[in-house]
This record gives sequence, structure tokens and C-alpha cells, in this order.
Amino acid sequence: MSLMDTLKRWFGGQGATPSTTSQQGRDRPEPPAAASPAAATPSQGATTMSDIRIHPAVDSGVRAGSDSFNGGTLHCHCSDNPVEVTVKAQCAHNHVCGCTKCWKPEGALFSMVAVVPRESLSVTANEDKLAVVDTSAAIQRHACKECGVHMFGRIENTDHPFHGLDFIHTELSDATGWAAPEFAAFVSSIIESGADPDNMDNVRGRLKKLGLEPYDCLSPPLMDAIAIHTAKAKGVL
Ligand SMILES: [Zn+2]
Ligand SMILES: [Zn+2]
Repeated sequence: MSLMDTLKRWFGGQGATPSTTSQQGRDRPEPPAAASPAAATPSQGATTMSDIRIHPAVDSGVRAGSDSFNGGTLHCHCSDNPVEVTVKAQCAHNHVCGCTKCWKPEGALFSMVAVVPRESLSVTANEDKLAVVDTSAAIQRHACKECGVHMFGRIENTDHPFHGLDFIHTELSDATGWAAPEFAAFVSSIIESGADPDNMDNVRGRLKKLGLEPYDCLSPPLMDAIAIHTAKAKGVL
């Protein structure tokens, strides 16, 4: 099995039924010059690029996190009895993600997702409103049944390379200081959510301008971590 197949199996990023709660990027504005061949020239491409809404947390520039930050509380979007998740750790590997499974805010092309140790995370209010979006997915995404926001994703398979880490969306916290997103994962997958394939150069250009290196899988360190895990499981390492 190729690494990409392994990844897709683990993350369930393709082929599965789309999440009913995700916005899937369909509300995004159509960049005006995207369909024109002239948009490929650097100057016009730059103008078009700035109109691309990657994610509200990065669209006006990526803000650095704080080294002394130690966690915070996440809330869903319900005005009454919001679900509250408390995280007692700084996050790691924060990134924007183009896959079809991660929860995205309205109008965004990408989600923003990070990991924390699972023992640092607990549901501290209104847990009864949570349900797993897709019980067959490797990452069990616990979402609010009322507002649809994904509060955390947990891997229950102990053989999974990322077992022990929970996935969170730090934008659900009012606290500042969360580690900043570092890269863009599964960029090509935004096409599966309806993004214009002809606009991908602009999307990748915009990501690079924001300092978020675009990858069509995960970042090299995370891909290496998965490969190391697989190699050890096979006994070749
Ligand atoms: Zn809610
Ligand atoms: Zn994702």
C-alpha cells in the first residue's frame, strides 16, 4: 500500500460521504480574473490572489503564537448552552487544511486544525450536545449537534501513527497565544469541495505569501513521522 493510500485510509479524506455540517467552501467568492488566461501573469495574479479567503484567522496575516501559552477553552457557535472544551496545553502542528472532512468556517476555502495531547483535553460543558460526525472515519470528529461545529477529533485506533493526539480548531478559543499555523495541507483537495481548479495557482500563491507552504498531503515532518511508524510496524526500521 502506498503512503498516500495509507494516508487516505487513516484520514478518510476522500471518497467518503461529505460532512453535513461543513461549509465545504461553496460560499466562497469567485475571484474575478481567475478564468482569464491573463490571470497567470504575475502582476494580475497578485491582485487576484489577495481576494482569496483562505481562512479568517490568516486572511489578514498569520499572527505568531506565544511561547508561554498553556491552553484555553474552546466553545461551539451556539448562543445558548455552548459546548465547552478545555485544553491544558499549547497546540502543535497547527496548519490550514483543504480536506473535505475538517470543519471550515463559512466562506473559507480551508479549515485550520492543530493537535494537542489527548490527555490535555476534556469536555467541560454540555457534552450531551456532541455526536461523532462519521463513526467509520479514523479521526472521530465530535461535533455539536445544534450548530455543527467540530469541537475535537480523536483517534481511537492505537495503531494509528497519531494515536494520542486530538485535533482541535484553535479559532474556537478567545485566547490569544495558540501556536500559529505553519503550512497548508491537502491543498488540491479543495477542488473536491467545489473550488475552481483553474484558480489553484492563485490559491497556492496566496498561501505562499502568507508563509503557509502548500502541500498536497501533510508537511514533510508529518509525512516522515507516518512513514517511520509504518516502517517500524513492518520491521524495516
Ligand atoms: Zn453548538
Ligand atoms: Zn483536514
